Amino acid sequence: MSMMISITCDGCDLTEDTSTSFEAGTNEIEAQLDEGWVHTSHSDYCPDCVKNGLAD
Ligand SMILES: [Zn+2]
Repeated sequence: MSMMISITCDGCDLTEDTSTSFEAGTNEIEAQLDEGWVHTSHSDYCPDCVKNGLAD
């Protein structure tokens, strides 16, 4: 069983979709996303915004 995950960047509203196993934990889900995304307890940032320092 799988599910779609949609992550929206809080810096620029970029949205990225990925599918993952329903049984996967948070670490597995994050591993499905493109490298460079940063997830904090409140926000998600795409690689471009990370580069621009928004995730600091
Ligand atoms: Zn962004």
